[in-house]
Amino acid sequence: MKLLRILPFARQLLRDTIVPGETVIDATAGNGNDTEFLAQFVGEDGHVVAFDIQQAALEATSKRLGNLNERVTLVLDSHDNVEQYVKGQIGGAVFNLGYLPHSEDLSIVTTPGSTLKAIDTMLSMLKKGGIIAISVYDGHEGGPEERDALLNYVNNLHQADVHVIRYELLNQRNNPPFLIALEKMKEFKTARQVE
Ligand code: SAM
Repeated sequence: MKLLRILPFARQLLRDTIVPGETVIDATAGNGNDTEFLAQFVGEDGHVVAFDIQQAALEATSKRLGNLNERVTLVLDSHDNVEQYVKGQIGGAVFNLGYLPHSEDLSIVTTPGSTLKAIDTMLSMLKKGGIIAISVYDGHEGGPEERDALLNYVNNLHQADVHVIRYELLNQRNNPPFLIALEKMKEFKTARQVE
């Protein structure tokens, strides 16, 4: 196997674990690249719920989707409200943290509070054996704080509940992104659910 870049590697993990027909989540739709991939992969009987807090992002995603729009629900709301929109189990989820590339307002970024709440909630909704793939970009203002909060959260997940990997190309310059992938090993209550 070649050393894949992080986005192809994340897709490989999702491809290996999502079963066509399932409901899956794109937590950060942006320009819709991951939404499109997921919509193709879940097939006619599957469904993708894609979140973004920017109308422009959802418009770009819808445009990219074309006929695939019928397999996708676009939600203009924060991903941490996922339980209001998705009932039952999910087959997988993908996050791309940071800002929308080429956006007019690059100050609109994912933030630690809603990112962690969303991941925590989606872990509780995820099927056993499912993957949550999180691409982390930390070169922007607020990026290091979100990265550190995420690493602290995932490092404290119990190894019997979730397997956690970090995948990155170590010798890239200029704040390269890295991937965190979570594989759910069994049903469990997260620390937030127990509180
Ligand atoms: N995966 C996308 C693509 O294929 O183009 C890129 C996503 S971009 C790095 C991050 C996106 O997350 C932005 O479009 C931003 O508006 C969105 N975002 C920021 N905070 C959010 C939140 N709380 N809930 C949902 N989306 C959010």
